[in-house]
Amino acid sequence: MAILLDGKATAEKIRKRLAEETKKLPEKPGLAAILVGSNPASKIYVDIKEKTCKEVGIYSERHNLPENTDGKELIALIEGLNAKSSIHGILLQLPLPGHINTQTALDIISPAKDVDGFTSRSVAKLAAGNEDNVPCTPKGIIRLLEEYKIPIASRHAVVVGRSMIVGKPTAAMLLNRNATVTICHSKTPDLGNYTRQADILIVAAGKPKLVTAEMVKQGAAVVDVGINKVDGGIAGDVDFESCKGKAGWISPVPGGVGPMTVAMLLENTLNCYKGIEG
Ligand code: NDP
Repeated sequence: MAILLDGKATAEKIRKRLAEETKKLPEKPGLAAILVGSNPASKIYVDIKEKTCKEVGIYSERHNLPENTDGKELIALIEGLNAKSSIHGILLQLPLPGHINTQTALDIISPAKDVDGFTSRSVAKLAAGNEDNVPCTPKGIIRLLEEYKIPIASRHAVVVGRSMIVGKPTAAMLLNRNATVTICHSKTPDLGNYTRQADILIVAAGKPKLVTAEMVKQGAAVVDVGINKVDGGIAGDVDFESCKGKAGWISPVPGGVGPMTVAMLLENTLNCYKGIEG
């Protein structure tokens, strides 16, 4: 039976450590969250981030902008937050409405306040092996592997999904740690042929129960990033019940990568406060 990669418990430990640290600081680290439009999932994520900030003693402020906000207004807001000394991290919740150029808006965020690691500069740095500003979900995935002392170097890691927020940066971080990395996506024929070769399998496809036991190598570490709304609640991208008897380690949904993502956002905010980018 697989060892559970308990993101909930690991994130709680991290939050406690952060709360201890922030208590000793002369002023509170500050995070500004910008939400454009009324995407219900985005609102839930920002609510959770705000609540967790409070718990660990991070000041948070939220800027709700209407759906029809134009790019110029958004840029003006970000520039104001760049200049605001009580704000150390700026989070621009994605996705943005289609009429706004997402990368242009992200690239206005000051490098010193890039808590999400989505600016072009941070993406380039990560590709070059510099992890000063790395996105929160990939950072949370790696931290979870490290917490459970899962060897990465020289192992074959397979990442299912190639988005800029999860798949690609996770693959880059695994490569930086000397894994041999394969990236799969929706055009990959015979996905199981690749996933069965994985010592470490990261699944971030947004497809409920895409990965089943016959697609998993005996003893592999399986990290399920997926959060999918299904009839009775939420499901991951991995069929947990069938895979838990075959994997060596497996992360649950909920209680796996989700809480780690939020913990990494708080850690990145504190790092920005301390002048360590991200
Ligand atoms: P995207 O939709 O941006 O990317 C999904 C990726 O999966 C794409 O690269 C796509 O391929 C690939 N894919 C889709 N279907 C298949 C398939 N059948 N076989 C192989 N690859 C496939 O999603 P995100 O990366 O933003 O998120 C992925 C999942 O993770 C979602 O469920 C999301 O909710 C969740 N998530 C969870 C977080 C957390 O904190 N736990 C944080 C962020 C996301 P292609 O490029 O060819 O289209």
